[in-house]
Amino acid sequence: MTDPRSDVAARSLADAEPAVFWLDDQARPEASESLVGELRCDLAVVGGGFSGLWTALLAKESDPSLDVVLLEAREIGWAASGRNGGFCAASLTHGHANGMARWPSEMPVLERLGAENLAAIGETVERYAIDCSFERTGELTVAVQPWQVADLRAEAEARSASGAAVQWLDAEQVRAEVHSPTYLGGVWDHEGVAMVNPARLACGLRRVCLELGVRIHERTPVQNLAQDGAESVLTTPYGRVRARRVALGTNVFPSLLRRARWYTVPVWDYALMTEPLDDEQRAAIGWRARQGMADAGNQFHYYRLTDDNRILWGVPRQS
Ligand SMILES: Cc1cc2nc3c(=O)[nH]c(=O)nc-3n(C[C@H](O)[C@H](O)[C@H](O)COP(=O)(O)OP(=O)(O)OC[C@H]3O[C@@H](n4cnc5c(N)ncnc54)[C@H](O)[C@@H]3O)c2cc1C
Repeated sequence: MTDPRSDVAARSLADAEPAVFWLDDQARPEASESLVGELRCDLAVVGGGFSGLWTALLAKESDPSLDVVLLEAREIGWAASGRNGGFCAASLTHGHANGMARWPSEMPVLERLGAENLAAIGETVERYAIDCSFERTGELTVAVQPWQVADLRAEAEARSASGAAVQWLDAEQVRAEVHSPTYLGGVWDHEGVAMVNPARLACGLRRVCLELGVRIHERTPVQNLAQDGAESVLTTPYGRVRARRVALGTNVFPSLLRRARWYTVPVWDYALMTEPLDDEQRAAIGWRARQGMADAGNQFHYYRLTDDNRILWGVPRQS
């Protein structure tokens, strides 16, 4: 017998388009030219996601005379950076509890650096007028199982006692924020998280890099990285780059450094975007403060509003 719930799911998803919502955007620029020929630079950055883009941008900001080249195999932001949930979090440890379990003595420093990092991201977005719907809404982590309540509450109280703008909400208070009967309590981190349109952020960083003089070549996969004296040599299908320094921002893709491949653990993440909610639908669920939301489960669900009031739902799964 078929599970009736799978019928409901199949009917609900019948009209869904299997596409990446954020990337399906008229504002995305044409790809820049592939590299043809040989060039020299001070810094070659491989990968045009957030890691590569921020590296190139910060290098140029710290020394405008540096000659920086960024090489991207496909288009800027097409991979994880342009298709994520858009939760831009201060936490450098994927949450406070995880950080306390692994690096308890270093947490004060990690938390300070994380807060400075988020503030600097916000300042950069503002300074260069990057149109990416950056909203400092904070995040509400909710308990949806009785066993999650005590830990979540203890975390909220400890963080609040150490000065963080974090608030414990009991079941009634959390349901007043977002009207779900499944919520048993929640932690509202008021300052530690911003919501962003990630593909727009990547496009904006691309524009700023170009304005600062970074040379960007898209559709230019680096096939090999070798050392030739003091220089690194990056080989691409139709060209070659000689660089004094190289920064790899290739994320989950096979690293150009074979030894780094052992450290890559793939995590799948499924995301679904709804149609824009109308006023009545919005009123039915509250959510006036537009916080990012996640539950406290190990393989958690996360969800958020877009600037046109769609809900993005996501759930990560480890392979
Ligand atoms: C569905 C989903 C939801 C997520 N949600 C969140 C979230 O809400 N908040 C959060 O903080 N994180 C989230 N993440 C994680 C986050 O998106 C990534 O950590 C981040 O985007 C990684 O950026 P990156 O630049 O390192 O990698 P990527 O964006 O993957 O970019 C790597 C780039 O390198 C290029 N590349 C690889 N090899 C080569 C080569 N040899 N030559 C040239 N180019 C190469 C690729 O083409 C790619 O463009 C999510 C991820 C996914 C998939």
